[in-house]
Amino acid sequence: MKGLTKIVAAVAFGGMVAGMGSAFAADAELSNAPQIITRAETVKSVFGAEGQFTGHVRIDPMFNANEYSHYTVGMVTFDPKARTYWHTHPSGQRLIVLHGHGLVGTIDGKASFVAAGDTVECPPNVKHFHAAAPDAGFVHYAITNNKDGKSVTWLEEVSDEQYNNAVKAATAE
Ligand code: MN
Repeated sequence: MKGLTKIVAAVAFGGMVAGMGSAFAADAELSNAPQIITRAETVKSVFGAEGQFTGHVRIDPMFNANEYSHYTVGMVTFDPKARTYWHTHPSGQRLIVLHGHGLVGTIDGKASFVAAGDTVECPPNVKHFHAAAPDAGFVHYAITNNKDGKSVTWLEEVSDEQYNNAVKAATAE
């Protein structure tokens, strides 16, 4: 693990300082660890749990956190109007929009529509939701950091009124 971390650091630093990568390569201890391929047909879809989602939501888990990647990756598919409950992430979250028309909002009333190719960065401890737009499905990857083994704190439901107000705010944006 120590060796692999060194390689990653060398590649990352080398990338930032163009042409300097080779100066660090000699320092790296190479690892013989195999790359791990997880076949698509082995991914077990789960449906959004009560107390976390409103409406029909499917989650396809892609990556669990491990000792060197401290984040999870999942693909989340929302039916029109479906949404998460209000929640926070102790170490932040990044969304990559894959398909459809989505809505992201924060407890201060700000909201935006998002579409394929957009990304969303949610800083730590910001109370927010993600949702599909009223008339379209929405699919995003969620990359969520872990902090002390925790990636999310679930709060109360996003009410119909709060959802409709977010749609209005995003439309007016
Ligand atoms: Mn989130």
